[in-house]
Parts: sequence; C-alpha cells; structure tokens
Amino acid sequence: MRIAVGGIHTECSTYSPVLMAVEDFRVLRGAELLGADYFNFLNAEGVEHLPLLHARAVPGGPVSRVAYEAFKTEFLHLLRAALPLDGLYLAMHGAVNVEGMEDAEGDWISAARAVVGPDCVVSASYDLHGNVSQKIIDQLDIFAAYRTAPHIDVRETMVRAWSMLIDALKSGTRPGIAWAPVPVLWPGERTSTEDEPTKSLYDVLPGVDRRDGILDANLMIGYVWADEPRATACAVVTAASKAEAAEAAAEIALSYWNAREECVFGPVTGPLSDMLDIAEAAGTTPVILADSADNPTGGGVGDRADVLNELIDRRFDGALIAGITDRPAVEACFAAGKGAKVALTIGGSLDPASTPAKVAGEVVMLDDPGPAAERQAVVEFGGITVVLAARRRPYHNIADFTRLGLDPKSVRLLVVKSGYLSPELAPIANPNLMALTQGVVNQDIEGLVSKRRARPVFPFDRDFDYQPQVRFSARWQD
Ligand SMILES: [Zn+2]
Repeated sequence: MRIAVGGIHTECSTYSPVLMAVEDFRVLRGAELLGADYFNFLNAEGVEHLPLLHARAVPGGPVSRVAYEAFKTEFLHLLRAALPLDGLYLAMHGAVNVEGMEDAEGDWISAARAVVGPDCVVSASYDLHGNVSQKIIDQLDIFAAYRTAPHIDVRETMVRAWSMLIDALKSGTRPGIAWAPVPVLWPGERTSTEDEPTKSLYDVLPGVDRRDGILDANLMIGYVWADEPRATACAVVTAASKAEAAEAAAEIALSYWNAREECVFGPVTGPLSDMLDIAEAAGTTPVILADSADNPTGGGVGDRADVLNELIDRRFDGALIAGITDRPAVEACFAAGKGAKVALTIGGSLDPASTPAKVAGEVVMLDDPGPAAERQAVVEFGGITVVLAARRRPYHNIADFTRLGLDPKSVRLLVVKSGYLSPELAPIANPNLMALTQGVVNQDIEGLVSKRRARPVFPFDRDFDYQPQVRFSARWQD
C-alpha cells in the first residue's frame, strides 16, 4: 500500500503588506520529513510511506506568488514521481493566502487530486482557524481539524486524519465529507477552547464521533483576517453515512451560530493605556500583557513598537518586551558588541505603518546561532528590557527566554506579541491582560475592510437569520 505525504501550512492576514518568501518556510523533504518529530506517527504496518514536501511558516502576510508556485511545482513533481498511490495525506493549515489568488488550499488540493486520480483516497488535517470551501471539500475523502485553541492537539489531529486514511485503505471503505458553513467570523481570541461558550461546543465533538456512521466531527472557527469569499466558520464531518453526517453537521453548525453573541475575550481586555494603568497598579507579578494586533502567530507583522513607546512615555520600571522583529536594530547591536552603548531606532522595520521608538541603551546579550536571520539581541534602557529578533517569530515558550538568560517569571511586566497566551505562559501570568492594539490582526473585527468577504456574516452584519445548509463532497456517491 503506497501513501504519499505533504502539504503547505501557514496562516496569512490579507491586511499585512509583508509578503512571505521561500526563506520564511521550514521545508521538509523526503527522509527529512519522515524523521521529523512533527510526522513521527508515519509508521503504519504494511504501508510504503512516500514523504514528498511539507512547507511550514510562522503566520504572516500573503505568500508571494513566486514562493507558492515554487512549492506547488516541486510538490506536484514529487507527487507524479510517487505514482501509483493508494492514499495521500495532506497536513494543511487552511488559511494560506497567495498574492493575487483566492482559495489557495483549493488550488493546491485540486492540483494534487488531478495528479493522483479519482481512486486515490485523500485525507487532510487542518487548523480550526483554516477556511474551507466547496472546492476543497470536493477533492477530499477525509478531514480532521484541531479541537483546541491554544492548539495542544496538533499531533492528535494529524493522527486522526492519518488513522482514518489507513483504516479506509485497509478496510476498502470510502468515507465521505459533509459540511455546513456558519456565517460567523470571530477571531481566535474570542473563541479559545479554554473559555466558554467555545469549550462546551468542542467538548461534545468526541461524543459525535462515536455515533453510528460518523468518523470525525469538526467545528471550524475560520480565519477572520482573510478578506476572501471563502472565509467562514463551518462544521465539517467525515462519515460513512450521509444521513448521519448531515444531521451532525447541521447540529454543530447551529450550536456555534446560537453561541455567537456569547463569544467574548478570555482575559481582561481593553485599550493599551487602560491595560498599562492596571499593570502599573498591580501588586502581583509577572503581569503578562498581550500586544494582540501584532501577534506573529496570528499573522501579525511583529515589528511594532507601540507598547514600547507607551512604556517609555510612562517611564515604566521593570518591563520586558519579547520581542520586536527588527533586523537592522539587531545588526546594529551586533556591530556595537555586548556591553556597548547603542542608539537604536526600534520598530516599523517591515511595515512602516507604525511609529518607531528612538532609544539609547546597553547591549546586554547577543545570541548568534549561525544564520543572520536567527540572530537575537537584548538591550536595556531605563527600566525596560527589549528582545530584538532578526526574523519574525514569537516568544511564547519559556525556552525562548532562558536561551537569552531571561526569566519571564521574575519581571514586573512581560509584554509579548500574542493573542490568547500560550500553554507555557498562561500559567505564570499574574494577571494576564490583553491590549487592543493596532496592527494587521486587529481585534476590532467590525472595523476591518471587507472587499471580498461573503456577506452577511456576523459580527459584520447582525440583522439576518440563519438555518444550516448541509453540503456534501462531490466525491461522495450514494
Ligand atoms: Zn490556529
């Protein structure tokens, strides 16, 4: 039995002017893919595993057309060379936007289907923040998406999609997919599965899986910062029975629609100045403040200095900002050397939409793992410490700090570019605050420009009725 594996995995804010290039992706090919921790479940008995190409990047702006076409061309070339195939597993995110193109996953998956032919069973795993379309569903037999946000079930989800594929091939059965769009577009920050009402909506899904005729039930929140016609929430159900699948999809879709008004931010949330007032008055540490509109893991640029500017104005004592992406500032720190005094302009190095901060400080740490894009510098001035990164990246794990000799638990205020906090930072936040800042993943959803988005959609539109309309994959024959 021959099964190929590959895909493209990132999330793109169409509001970001910073395009993703080939170098922004971590690309796994062939044996390297099979050896990666991320894919360590690809070891089914009696299966010839054919790892092709998997390209993954930190979320950001649209993928440049050149980068996308390069990955797609290479992937399809490897796919043709791997024929004949019994199965194909695609590890996708679902919110890729490509310069000058809509429904990028629809394009990628349709092109793959055209190569493998109609008899090959194709399974895809998705992030619940991915956007689904009829074009995508029509090419797939099996679908599974994350059920947690923050995402702590990435591997489990991939295993669900993979195991259903193996089971289908070994048993000779052909599952099908039903889906029901839900005209709701909330950001992840209002739909964390740690908080109600979303927690309860996801808690019921494993029970739906266990019903006769159902294999895998999913609720997709979708990705609101993609101004594309396909951007939507939806229910997606992989099943053996059309009637059961339709019933489950309609039920899940309606459950989210009915809960839409209750989706609120988990932490204390408000304008930046209000959040810093709370941080200044707090008697507990560390206060962890999320700079939500510039969160690189949501598609934000990660180069903004708005919070830094506000902390400088307030002469805040005891703040750590991790981090701001600013390659010229990192290079200036390396040129000056550790211990040197430097004058820096920080912020707006990628997207000139924000106001930079001018500071004079001391370089206290330089991290040089090799490639210039991996460099980091830590600078201090007044009571403020700033981590500077040469490339776009989050600081969401404790190891990101310890590598630099920093202890996030011991600071008065930690500022991270994040929406809901990561599983490692959330438990130490005392308290967690989320600032409604400016940036390309701004939480002011109703203020987003809609040129291509399908309407009506809540909360952009509020006065309309909804009844779930279940649709099936074109591949699902009676
Ligand atoms: Zn996600």
